[in-house]
Amino acid sequence: MGYHTPMNLTQIFPEHGPVANLPKHDRNAWLKGGGALCEMPPRVPQGQAWRIVLLGAPGIGKGTQAELLCERLGTCQLSTGDIFRNAKCLQEHEQTPSMKDALGFMRQGALVPDTTVLGLIRDRLRCLRCSGGFLLDGFPRTVPQAEALEKILQEENIQLSAVLNYELPIERIVARISGRRTCSKCKAVYHVANRPPKVADVCDHCGGSLFQREDDRPESVEVRMKAYATSTSPLINFYQQRGLLLTISADGSPEEIYQRTRLLALGR
Ligand code: AMP
Repeated sequence: MGYHTPMNLTQIFPEHGPVANLPKHDRNAWLKGGGALCEMPPRVPQGQAWRIVLLGAPGIGKGTQAELLCERLGTCQLSTGDIFRNAKCLQEHEQTPSMKDALGFMRQGALVPDTTVLGLIRDRLRCLRCSGGFLLDGFPRTVPQAEALEKILQEENIQLSAVLNYELPIERIVARISGRRTCSKCKAVYHVANRPPKVADVCDHCGGSLFQREDDRPESVEVRMKAYATSTSPLINFYQQRGLLLTISADGSPEEIYQRTRLLALGR
């Protein structure tokens, strides 16, 4: 398969704090695609770079874990949802027809068709090759997407380090979604009760204003949960068969979940 076996991991998984006191990645290359370049060069780790896929139902807190993991492993969060949210902010004439279609699916909470998503990924292959590694959040979301990713990584001779699968009962997830707020500028994720910003509605990192995502409304949440159960949960089996899956309880504070993740990854 060309993947690491579970016992082959030699990378460092830090207990606390960012790897270096550097500003957050701007993720220009990922969010804009094509010829766009990130302003900051990758933070190349001392050991091997981490190449991680995050799995879990919408609202389980993948975005928050992604932020902590990226800060501490020095890698970059590659979220397909953020590409769509970024495109939503573009002027009408700047959006391609397929992006306009994709945003329609997104507003309803439905999955964007695989062909559109895979087109976006192919346009951003440079981010998968990045020497700083990557953390894929929200992709792959279907078995055809996972098969396509596997093929791309094989062609590029890139190996996944692990697939982190977060789990929590559905009622708890719905409570998390209703309190979630996102920064309009740097996309950092907060929760009004569990992870509030220092100043209400203002991002701690960049001072941007916080907003509630359109697809976090109750009617969209129901559609997203169904899409997860039907299309995304089969990926648990897909990655288990490849010896890459680590299942982690998403109960507790973001820091507790991070420490659980760290211990599990180190124990591999
Ligand atoms: P997320 O932020 O990952 O929850 O994504 C928000 C929305 O973007 C989803 O509800 C989908 O409409 C769309 N989306 C993001 N990633 C994908 C993907 N890999 N496949 C299909 N649709 C996606």
